[in-house]
Amino acid sequence: MPCELLGRMAACGDCREVAVEYGLALIGSRRHGADPRAWELPLTSTRLHLDDHLITAHAAWLPDRQPDCDVCGAWREDYDAIGPICEAEALHRAWHLCAPLREVCTPGNHELTHLI
Ligand SMILES: [Zn+2]
Ligand SMILES: [Zn+2]
Repeated sequence: MPCELLGRMAACGDCREVAVEYGLALIGSRRHGADPRAWELPLTSTRLHLDDHLITAHAAWLPDRQPDCDVCGAWREDYDAIGPICEAEALHRAWHLCAPLREVCTPGNHELTHLI
């Protein structure tokens, strides 16, 4: 089985769809000779779909604040984690959650095919 996150996503139809879109954009943008500007929009829009889905459908997957992340640290100073976290922080945690996905979505790595 691929990385643990992909295993979880494979069980959800919506995850598969949006994660594959984002993954393919990642791979495309990382190909040799890819124009970073041409990939900006597809990367942003596919990631938004994925983040949106993760926050609404899999809030339980979002990791805690990461100890060595400045952004997480800033939130820790701002207020204590009482009650629901704000959307901006949820989005940021979704970004942490997807770190393994960004790691495997490179040209020549076929882990993403587990979701297709
Ligand atoms: Zn899902
Ligand atoms: Zn962080």
